[in-house]
Amino acid sequence: MTWGRAASTSCGLRLFLDANASEPLRPAAREAVLRALELGNPSSVHAEGRAARAALEQARATLAARFGGEVVFTSGGTEANALAVRALGAGRRILVGSTEHAAVLAAAADAERVPVLRDGTLDLAALDQMLDGPPALVCAMAANNETGVFHALRETAALCRARGALLHTDAVQAAREGFSLAESGADTAALSAHKLGGPKGAGALLVRPGLALAPLIGGGGQERGRRGGTEALPALLGFAAAVPERGETACLAAMRDGIEAGIRALAPEAVIAGGAAPRLANTTLVVLPGIPAETQVIALDLAGVAVSAGAACSSGRVARSHVLEAMGLDAACGLRVSLPWNAAVDAPERFVEAWGAMRARLSRRRAGSATCAT
Ligand code: PLP
Repeated sequence: MTWGRAASTSCGLRLFLDANASEPLRPAAREAVLRALELGNPSSVHAEGRAARAALEQARATLAARFGGEVVFTSGGTEANALAVRALGAGRRILVGSTEHAAVLAAAADAERVPVLRDGTLDLAALDQMLDGPPALVCAMAANNETGVFHALRETAALCRARGALLHTDAVQAAREGFSLAESGADTAALSAHKLGGPKGAGALLVRPGLALAPLIGGGGQERGRRGGTEALPALLGFAAAVPERGETACLAAMRDGIEAGIRALAPEAVIAGGAAPRLANTTLVVLPGIPAETQVIALDLAGVAVSAGAACSSGRVARSHVLEAMGLDAACGLRVSLPWNAAVDAPERFVEAWGAMRARLSRRRAGSATCAT
């Protein structure tokens, strides 16, 4: 099956619009993974080990040059978030944005939740008040995975600095748009390879130089004692090879706007969550009142279009979206459309056509127990 390639002029090709779940693998990343499969252990002192070490350090340098900070390799975004929350949160109160990804919420189960405004951006006045008291760790994601909404990180970082708080940001989705640790002002940031077009199972925590970090996983002292375990060279080299060109997503904004314009023209009742806030260029979350997200996703899948509900459990079942809930919107009826790096130019047109047909059919069928509480 081909994901979101060009040439969608031929009928019958599937349309992949779920990049925020996983971007299609980039050819350069695939090649880097294959080349690295034969490499040795980067901790070995012999020549084979030194060759592996050199490749690993080259990958680290690529990521550091692009995103900034000291790079600690992990198994993905979930582990990078957990490492930051556990290490920086020790002995501190933990405050997390109410629209954070489950990876952060699970790592800080007892955290206090910072509300967001109706447009999905962090409520900085509320955060300011919540920072009264003992030193805190604040977790504020750079861009939301469901709505694409950016938090105002520089302002958040300034507030944290003034109050002696540390700031961790989940930059897993924002990285495709040129995230920089230094520009964000955060102390640490989580990245994930497969959200950039790299392989699954690789990620990194970017750490402000000089910041001490206790490991979550001990062991052989890898990653300068900050993450035990032999580094997964093929996945990590694929990660570095997937780093996108700056400005690559610019053309996606026009495609995303085309989708939203098409939806608005067809369905005045549809709401674009966070539509007025600064957002990722590739993402739109469309709330269609009265039609459960799961039903929409299945209907579109059968029509050849891969999208997702705002929130999905690992079981594949669709959950109510805590993000939409926090924004005061219908939490059961949000459909996320996220354009991949290789989206075909006619993707907006094809999507709007399929979405319009889906809406017309499901609206006719809508009745009784099949509807959401709106
Ligand atoms: N953070 C955000 C914002 C995400 O979207 C995801 C993945 O869905 C993660 C963290 C987890 O990343 P990974 O799949 O690499 O563990």
